Amino acid sequence: MIRVGFGFDVHQLVAGRELWLGGVLIPHSVGALGHSDADVLLHALCDALLGAAALGDIGQHFPNTDARWKGADSKVLLAEVMRLLREGQWIVGNVDCTLIMERPKIMPHVPAMRAVIAPLLGIGEDAVSIKATTSETMGYIGREEGVAAHAVALLQKA
Ligand code: MG
Repeated sequence: MIRVGFGFDVHQLVAGRELWLGGVLIPHSVGALGHSDADVLLHALCDALLGAAALGDIGQHFPNTDARWKGADSKVLLAEVMRLLREGQWIVGNVDCTLIMERPKIMPHVPAMRAVIAPLLGIGEDAVSIKATTSETMGYIGREEGVAAHAVALLQKA
């Protein structure tokens, strides 16, 4: 049995915050605002994985009203999602993610992101795709007010 899931997330970009994307700290003049470390890529990925297993969404499992998740490393959230999947006998086939932001250039950081994410999912780096695009200067992403990410995940019953 195979299942596919989709995830989407968006965060504001503000001064005075770190920019974490795909589990990697990216040097930049602004960072993502959020209750946790606001890693928009890992959040979209968590939702894709939870979605494939029909296990709800990241907001249900890690509410932003819960002090436990304040400033949380999103890799910890992803690890908890994987624990839930293993409970359901699910294994990950592959994941594919797209980041949407104007700056900075993401491609130089993609190898580091794949190296962080693959072991957390229990798959090879060749099954972790991370792509990036801009919004061609249009809208909130184009004005650099925010960053968005989409992700899809394929699960197989172990
Ligand atoms: Mg989020």
